[in-house]
Amino acid sequence: MAKKPFTLSKSRYIRGLQCHKSLWLYTHDRDLQEVSKSATASFQQGDEVGAIARNIFPKGKFIAFDNMSFEEQISETQKALKKEKVIYEAAFSYGGVFVKADILRKVGGSWELYEVKACNSRKDVHLDDIAIQHYVITGSGVPISKAFLTHLNKEYTRDGELDVQALFTSEDVTDEIKAKQEAIKAEIGRQQKMLAGKEPIIDIGPHCTNPYNCDFAGHCWKNVPDNSIFDLTGNGVKKWPLYKDGILKMEDIPLGKLKGLQLQQVKTYLGKKTVVDPTGLKTFLKELWYPLYYLDFETFLAAVPPYDGLKPYQQIPFQYSLHSQKRAGGKLTHKEFLANPNCDPREELLDSLLDEIPSNACVLVYFQPFELGRLKELAQQFPKKAKQINAIISNVRDLLVPFKGRALYSWKQQGSHSIKNVLPAFVKNMSYEGLEIGDGGEAIEAYQKMCAVADDPKALGKIRQDLLEYCGQDTLAMVRLLEVVEAKSKLK
Ligand code: SF4
Repeated sequence: MAKKPFTLSKSRYIRGLQCHKSLWLYTHDRDLQEVSKSATASFQQGDEVGAIARNIFPKGKFIAFDNMSFEEQISETQKALKKEKVIYEAAFSYGGVFVKADILRKVGGSWELYEVKACNSRKDVHLDDIAIQHYVITGSGVPISKAFLTHLNKEYTRDGELDVQALFTSEDVTDEIKAKQEAIKAEIGRQQKMLAGKEPIIDIGPHCTNPYNCDFAGHCWKNVPDNSIFDLTGNGVKKWPLYKDGILKMEDIPLGKLKGLQLQQVKTYLGKKTVVDPTGLKTFLKELWYPLYYLDFETFLAAVPPYDGLKPYQQIPFQYSLHSQKRAGGKLTHKEFLANPNCDPREELLDSLLDEIPSNACVLVYFQPFELGRLKELAQQFPKKAKQINAIISNVRDLLVPFKGRALYSWKQQGSHSIKNVLPAFVKNMSYEGLEIGDGGEAIEAYQKMCAVADDPKALGKIRQDLLEYCGQDTLAMVRLLEVVEAKSKLK
């Protein structure tokens, strides 16, 4: 007897569109999957945004999925279709695919389909997502008059109560997703046939990161060594054509194919060297003065703005670290701020910062678009303090400049100019390894945990300590790196 074909879901179908091997592994060898914390967070954010979007068309019937089989959900949906005007999470199955529709709205004798995405703009993959829903729903005999992609409106600024109608924008994508219908049946057939066979032989390629970072990369990329062609940074030679030519290690790249920063990166790696340009370093140092303040912000962001004056996904600073010196080689002073959980941290943070930084100070940051961006936003959100903030803004200088311009570059950085890579390359016994919080993403997670354990002083204290240690490390790292820049600038 022939085997029953695999039932696909919407998300499995989309996974298969990206890579058949990914779908096969997800179905048959899920232990190899490595779901990143950021992917988990974005799923949660998607659920939250989806729930809020239901208020665009309120009082609809919600088809639950917890403790309900596919058949039960489909049966509930069939009942709702007869009497409801709006249905959330309606369930359908057709042609071997099961889908849930975020919102269905009855208009006349047919239905409008709304797919909600927790992002600020549309992506091509969203159309495939809606197209497969349209295929399954219409195949089930339910007419769809229009299909919409509903996403966050990046122009929306919160002012008081959340205005759900203004927070979202819906784009009519009916024609685009109809144009995709013909190809869907054949693709479903290909995916089902593939799933019934052995693991497909598919090599790594640009599809591993497009449209999503594949969660089986740990398995498929395990033979790619450190210092491979994929560590090449900057513009120049394209990596996938090199890979197709059988070149994987950096040492195997013909130098004639490289120029500029890529050539410098490979030569430096091959010779295990450090590049020092004292003139470039001196030029950078001339831009600085004392008193010198080293500043770093930590921020979180939310799809749905939690406070007034914020847009979707706008960064919200909750912490800063500030080291300072009155003169070159002078005593190092450290100040810091970390907001209390579950409150709008911006104004208190801003007041504290303005108290600490004198208007004549040079303010050193690492990657100035980030700190400047936050300062400019604070100036907009708190216009009465804009003059003082703008004085700081005009005094900001970027320690990234000599590293990005490769006036100082070590092969150990592996082409990266992130402070996490630059620091251990030049400063002994100082790195982010061993810290409880190791990067900005983990700092966001820690702040969110702080909000969740606000009533537990012991847990709260531990997270506070970890966050202070991490952010303090960022500015102390800048102090030490500037010392390196100064020392190297004196080399003949
Ligand atoms: S890592 Fe790449 S090749 Fe492997 S399953 Fe994912 S997309 Fe396919």
